[in-house]
Amino acid sequence: MEPTCSPAPKPQAKAPAYKLTSRVTHPQNSLIPLGSFVIGGPEFIIMAGPCSVEADPQMLGTAWDVKVAGAHIIRGGAFKPRSSPYSFQGLAEEGLKKLASARELTGLAIVTEVMDSTDVDLVSSYADILQVGARNAQNFSLLKRLGQLNKPILLKRGLMNTVEEFLCSAEYILAGGNPNVILCERGIRTFETSTRNTLDLSSVLAIKEKSHLPVIVDPSHASGKAHYVAPLSKAALAVGADGLMIEVHCDPANALCDGEESLNPEQFKELMLTLKDLAPHFGRQISTIANHNPQLAENA
Ligand code: PEP
Ligand code: MN
Repeated sequence: MEPTCSPAPKPQAKAPAYKLTSRVTHPQNSLIPLGSFVIGGPEFIIMAGPCSVEADPQMLGTAWDVKVAGAHIIRGGAFKPRSSPYSFQGLAEEGLKKLASARELTGLAIVTEVMDSTDVDLVSSYADILQVGARNAQNFSLLKRLGQLNKPILLKRGLMNTVEEFLCSAEYILAGGNPNVILCERGIRTFETSTRNTLDLSSVLAIKEKSHLPVIVDPSHASGKAHYVAPLSKAALAVGADGLMIEVHCDPANALCDGEESLNPEQFKELMLTLKDLAPHFGRQISTIANHNPQLAENA
């Protein structure tokens, strides 16, 4: 009798590493509404403020300055991921309260970092956007927890993450049920030492090709040098980013964190004027005011 062969097994399709994040499943750009504006559309979104929330009057003063210059969102860290445990670690809830006061004063939304899953409820009770820092970009339990929220998440690219890995991190949040993810290219570790990190502007193109999520650029942490921030911001606009995150401090020389890469309010104002002029050349706009506080909006 002829030997019979059992049928060959069908080749297994390889599971995609990310799918909800992919442009294949969602061809249109994702739009993330926040107050009176939308992230991911023609508006070029500017998030600006100090690295860390410090003692008064630093946060309110800087928040007011960035609002007057035309920023959409105020940034400031209350929980700081510092390389040394002896460096300033942030003001924790006291810092979140100062951010809430800055929102009340300016009408602008606030973005601030959450470092630990156990702080998600606390940070979420103050923040309009929760930031995941580069050092936590592959903290999968934190990402899963953030997937349970509805609020926008600003996800920074990990220090050593490929674009593929970055999109997989975003997928953890989307897979949990939260579609409101904003990606942030903030430079990666390379052999180059002349800048703090190497700003990978090509990643904006790669992300836009592979994903529908909005992507912003952080030229402050990417370069580590205040005088590189304006040229890199213009380059980010030109390459197609949806906005910027910029560190601004009322007194950079005395900042408790990242003063060397922080613009002073005057430098920030000048940059905003340039960006407002340039934006229409790249199909973008920066509107005069984006008021996040409904009470202020009513009185405007
Ligand atoms: C920050 O934005 O405050 C920060 C710590 O940035 P990164 O996580 O990109 O280093
Ligand atoms: Mn910083």
